[in-house]
Amino acid sequence: MNALGRVFSIEEFSVFDGPGIRTSVFLKGCNLHCSWCHNPEGQSKDIQIVKSPNGCLNCGACKKAALLLTGKEELCEASVAACPNKLIRISGEDYTAESLCDRLFKNQQFYETSGGGVTFSGGEPLMQSDFILACAKLLRGKVHLALQTAGMCKPEIFDRVLSEMDYVLFDIKLVREERLKRYTGADANIVYRNFDTLVKSGKDFVVRIPLIPGVTDTKENIADIIACLKGYGITYAEAMPYNKMAGAKYTMVGRTYQPDFDPAQDVYIPEKEFSENGIELCIL
Ligand code: SF4
Repeated sequence: MNALGRVFSIEEFSVFDGPGIRTSVFLKGCNLHCSWCHNPEGQSKDIQIVKSPNGCLNCGACKKAALLLTGKEELCEASVAACPNKLIRISGEDYTAESLCDRLFKNQQFYETSGGGVTFSGGEPLMQSDFILACAKLLRGKVHLALQTAGMCKPEIFDRVLSEMDYVLFDIKLVREERLKRYTGADANIVYRNFDTLVKSGKDFVVRIPLIPGVTDTKENIADIIACLKGYGITYAEAMPYNKMAGAKYTMVGRTYQPDFDPAQDVYIPEKEFSENGIELCIL
């Protein structure tokens, strides 16, 4: 298997993406369109030029370099070296499984001493399932492997990758089919089929709930999620309240942030509802 993986970030010593100290690999490309996403670099599978919004001297060196190389002022690879303040970078790097795993193995001592490992995240990492499987072939049995996913992929892909993972962080956003489709583009039948498979697999997992004002924090959705978790006997979940800075990175990739909810509204934290139903909710 010679799958190449396209990565937009590798975060070492991460403590929020599964047990212990981990290296999180963020794979490019996502098949959902959640407008609360704070990582637009992860949405596109393409290599992108990213420009930091602060510190620009307006010297024009980036555009001049682009013009010389491509005949257009649109920022390109040449702009990266041309910027005196190093504000421009390329998002997206292709790795072979071997080259990525060589890097991941460098922190193996930390994984072993902390009970950590490697987490594949994104974007939606399952869009690069062949690459994850190629990495798992090299890492499995030596490094604890985790997957952070929204579960929107063909069941056969989910099952295959799940079989190679030790731990899964599964996003539960919205339960009702029409609302999940509207706000994320995901198909509830597929997502909850894959969630059912995960729960019944006996693998360790955690449910993660993004709390988005007026979207996922509504009474109706909270009740639906609690009913879903209780139905499986799940007694612990993690919630990630909406980050009001979520829109900040959109301009860096040349996009305008257009949330389909009111981002100024305060998010409701449903700790009481969860605890009344015997579910501990950890707020991240
Ligand atoms: S080269 Fe850098 S500092 Fe100069 S205009 Fe471009 S981004 Fe701004």
